[in-house]
Parts: sequence; C-alpha cells; structure tokens
Amino acid sequence: MTTIKLHNTKTRKREVFTPIDDKNVRMYVCGPTVYDRAHLGNARPVIVFDVLNRLLRHVYGDGHVTYVRNFTDVDDRINETALKRQQAGAVGSLEELIRERSDETIDWYHADMDALGALRPNHEPRATEYIDQMVAMIAQLEADGFAYEKEGHVLFRVRKYADYGTLSGRSVDDMIAGARVEVAPYKEDPMDFVLWKPSTDELPGWDSPWGRGRPGWHIECSAMAYELLGAHFDIHGGGNDLMFPHHENEIAQSCCANGTEAMANVWMHNEMLQVEGKKMSKSLGNFFTVRDLLEQGVPGEVIRFVMLSTHYRKPMDWTEKKREEAEKTLGKWALVTAEEIPSPMDDEFIRLLGEDLNTPGAIALLHSFARQKEFKKLRAGLDFLGLDLASWRAFFDEKDLQYDKYISMDHRSIINTLLGERFLAKKNRDFVKSDHIRDFLTEAGIKLNDNPDGTSDWESTSDFDPAKLEAIK
Ligand code: AMP
Ligand code: ZN
Repeated sequence: MTTIKLHNTKTRKREVFTPIDDKNVRMYVCGPTVYDRAHLGNARPVIVFDVLNRLLRHVYGDGHVTYVRNFTDVDDRINETALKRQQAGAVGSLEELIRERSDETIDWYHADMDALGALRPNHEPRATEYIDQMVAMIAQLEADGFAYEKEGHVLFRVRKYADYGTLSGRSVDDMIAGARVEVAPYKEDPMDFVLWKPSTDELPGWDSPWGRGRPGWHIECSAMAYELLGAHFDIHGGGNDLMFPHHENEIAQSCCANGTEAMANVWMHNEMLQVEGKKMSKSLGNFFTVRDLLEQGVPGEVIRFVMLSTHYRKPMDWTEKKREEAEKTLGKWALVTAEEIPSPMDDEFIRLLGEDLNTPGAIALLHSFARQKEFKKLRAGLDFLGLDLASWRAFFDEKDLQYDKYISMDHRSIINTLLGERFLAKKNRDFVKSDHIRDFLTEAGIKLNDNPDGTSDWESTSDFDPAKLEAIK
C-alpha cells in the first residue's frame, strides 16, 4: 500500500499517516462563511484538500473515505444583506430572506468550486441545521465546569483546559499578548471565548437553556464534526489563519465535551494566497473572486493548475504570468493527450503526492512525461489531479491555447486550429501536410518553434498579415 506522509501542525513534523479505521478514513475541513462570493484565497484550501481527498480515495478505496466540509450560515454579514433587501421591499420574513441569501451564496460556491474541478465532499453540513447539537455540547461543557453563563452569554473557561495552545505551540499568556482578545464585562478571563450569545429580537435566534440566542463560530465546527465524524477522527484541515484561535478553540471544546485526548490526529494548514506578491485585500484594489476570473475567461483548470504548482505549505502567489504559462501548458497537454487512453497510475507520481502532497513535484513529473512523449502517463496524471481537459480537447480548435497580445482572438483561434492539425499530421507521419501548414503560417508572418513533445509554440513577426491568415477560411 502507498505510504502517505503528512505534515502535522500539532507535532510540527512530517509523519506517516495511519488511519484510525482504514475502512473509514475521516477528514473535516473548515468551509466558508456564506455571505458572498468566494475569493481566490478561499479556493486554495478547497483545491488542496480536494487533492488529498482524491489521494486518500485512491489508497483506501472510494467508499472508505468520509470528507466533511461545512457551511457557516450564522453570520452578521448574511443578516445585513437580508435586512437591506427587506428594507428595499423584498417579500418575506427576515428569516426567509436570510435563508435565501445563504442558499444563493451556497449555490454560487458550488458552481465556482465545481468549475475548479473540486469533488463535492460527502457531507456539507449547514451550521443552522445543527443548533440542537451545539446546545447539547455547550450544556455538557457547562455541566462539567468548562463553561459558565453570564449575562446571557456562555463562555469557555480557557484556563481550565491545560492543553490549550498546544496546536500552535504557544502558551496562553503568549497568546493573550499577541492576540486581539476582547475584554468584556461578562468574561472571567480575557482569553475566554464565546460559545453562545444573546440575539436581538429581529435577528435569528434559537431557544436555549440560556435564553434566545445564537452559537459562537467555533462551536459550530465542533458540533458538526462530532455528529458526522465522531469524537476522534483522522484529519482536520483549513487555512493557516484558522490555527489560532479557531482551531485551538475547536480542540478545547471537543476534547472537554467528549472526554477525548485528541479531536483529530493530523492537523493540516494551507498557507495563504497572495496576488502579485501582495496580500489580497479590497483596500489594495487586488481583491477578486473566483467568479471574476471565470468571467474574464480564465478556465477553472488554469486556476487549479496554478494553485497546485506551489506546495500548500508555502505562500502562493497568483500572477498574470503564471496564468499565461498555465494556459499554454494545459493547451499543449490537452492536444497531446486528446487521443490517449490513460495508463495505470505511475508509481512515482503517487509517491510524490504521498510526500505531504508534493503537487509541484507531481507537476514537474508531468512535464517530463510530456518531454518523453509518455502521453498515456501524462493523461493519467492530469486526470488524477482533477485537471479535466475534456472541454479543451473538444474545442481545442476553437480554444485559445496561446496568447499574443498583438493578435486578435479570432486570428489566434485560426492559428491554434492549424497547430492542432499539424500536431496530428506529424503524429500520423503525414509530413507533407505538416510542412504545408508550417509554410502557410510562415507566409502569413507566424513563426513556429517546435517542441520535443511534438507541439509548437508560435510568435507573430513584423510580417504578420491577417488577410493571408484569413484566406484559410
Ligand atoms: P472564511 O470564509 O474566511 O472562513 O474562509 C474559508 C477558508 O478559506 C478557510 O479555510 C480560510 O483559511 C481560507 N482562506 C481565507 N483567505 C485565504 C487566503 N488568502 N489564502 C488561502 N486560504 C484562505
Ligand atoms: Zn472550523
């Protein structure tokens, strides 16, 4: 059996992964708060853990992995949108409008993540459907002295849990010094965090032993993970930004309520995404959503490929240059694998992914398959990584496989069609036809540079003559 090694945040080591039950490998990943379109950064954990999900399914069997990713649908920003819509005359109660807003955001999320080639998890629980379980968990914590109620709030008593901070390797006092902990009159200690808080009459709220209120964010994941995966499971993932306080709090709540030593055996965190070397933020004007890119015509496979070209534990920089290169590479690979039936998976490819998801290494191997004309292996590797190029293959004659800003879309499309035909002609050893296509393009002012894998790159020269190119029609 393939050995999978994963970097565990908890031990700060790369460890051999051994499932608790190899007939049911269980993974929980913190999902989005569904108040608006997912931004490009949100796509990173989705793609990273999708590759891990595929690898686990490959190794343990498709039916032996349970992957859960939640939707956080209790949030002030969702409420605000609903309230604004109601004030603008939308029909329905505030509760209905809130539900409508999260439904719509979830639909967008699905459409966007599907376009990135991510398989849907086995369960996608919504926080609002697990309130009873959250209330039960909080009640248990209170009964055992890990939580206390004050002024309608229920708080977790951080100092009561000796292991608090072990995930990020910091002491409670260091964390207080470094974090923006809210000092509030209802807290015994500034570190204590909210499990339940009161709700106003017009906002969503649920009845509870502590009055009408709503859950804190952290308890949502603890309750949903417990319901769907049990008290102790294999892998818990999310972005680096969630390590503290969110994941520390999840561990504290779950271990204290369930009486376990560990919530998950392996904790995995992806590093953040940046744009052209800068943090993505609205104030810097470099903030964009996955949908923005898709609408600009960037294929989902290109986004996925760029993301996987950087190891998940390194900051990932999204740049125009990487996008262009990915588009060119995938265009060529779509072409050369068009008629290939995938071969069985290459051992080295799986071994690389098993080394803490070494996706850049796996992609480097795909490049070497392409150079060596091992197109069946290339096809299998692409399929494994979820890079489905079917639409590229079907339309490779229409698809813009290579950019040249001086040449219009229509002209690029003609060139790419001809290059596709030339590739197939060479493969069929019809050199008269392949030479003829090259001569035609040279005549129109397009210079070809042939690659070892049988594809060609092209560039326009100062002799470029659109009329000559159009004459082919
Ligand atoms: P949120 O909806 O903000 O809770 O985020 C959903 C997921 O996206 C979490 O796993 C975050 O850690 C992750 N995330 C948010 N921003 C970024 C970013 N810039 N780069 C990578 N992951 C991110
Ligand atoms: Zn979570």
